[in-house]
Amino acid sequence: MAATSPFIAGNWKMHGLTARLDQLRILADGLASHPTAARVAVCPPATLLAQAAHILVGTRVELGGQDCHGEASGAFTGDISAEMLADAGARLVILGHSERRMLHGESDSVVASKIVASLRAKLEPIICVGEQGDDRRAGRTLRVVEGQLAASLPDRLAGARFHIAYEPVWAIGSGLTPTSEEIAEVHDAIRRALIARFGEQGAHVHILYGGSVKPENAAEILKVAEVGGALVGGASLTASDFIQIIAAA
Ligand code: PEP
Repeated sequence: MAATSPFIAGNWKMHGLTARLDQLRILADGLASHPTAARVAVCPPATLLAQAAHILVGTRVELGGQDCHGEASGAFTGDISAEMLADAGARLVILGHSERRMLHGESDSVVASKIVASLRAKLEPIICVGEQGDDRRAGRTLRVVEGQLAASLPDRLAGARFHIAYEPVWAIGSGLTPTSEEIAEVHDAIRRALIARFGEQGAHVHILYGGSVKPENAAEILKVAEVGGALVGGASLTASDFIQIIAAA
């Protein structure tokens, strides 16, 4: 059973100087004049969060961070805690993104500790899982995704609001996407795993699809069973593209 209203979140990654905040203004104005049932969030770089929060006061657009440290504060040069994200105006945080897992060596247990930190700061985590191209070619997709879920999701998520993003690593930023059948198969497996672990709560968690979602393919992807929204990278940087994706939800 898919969660009810769709959730569309944008991940700006390490893109965006102050000038890009104009895109947030255009997005908020666009959503005000073309109301949508979708929940909408943008996760800009941490440097823009406080300014973005100021711009988005009273709008439909929520804010998220892209990562957080497991501790609330301490001698961790360059890191940002969940409490700092919340203090800057974030309500959500992306955790376990494949770029963090691969480029920063984040293991499932590190992701789990960050999820606990996000809950401590009252942030809603968007927890990413997904297979590499080699995994898919070798027929290991479900095993990999189920393994990431089992090892990354702490028990503390019971009763908390959280979201899963299925992001095949080979589809991120590549312009490639799985077929609707392939997306449906993985989302169904995620839903089963969530229900097995969290019972009725697991039936209502949003399962977002992420990986080269564009205005051209959004409607087809968003109508797949158990797809409760999208995590959008490149196409969230431009308000007009992101609005078209939101309108397709
Ligand atoms: C992402 O970074 O989470 C992502 C899905 O990127 P893109 O939409 O650019 O593939």
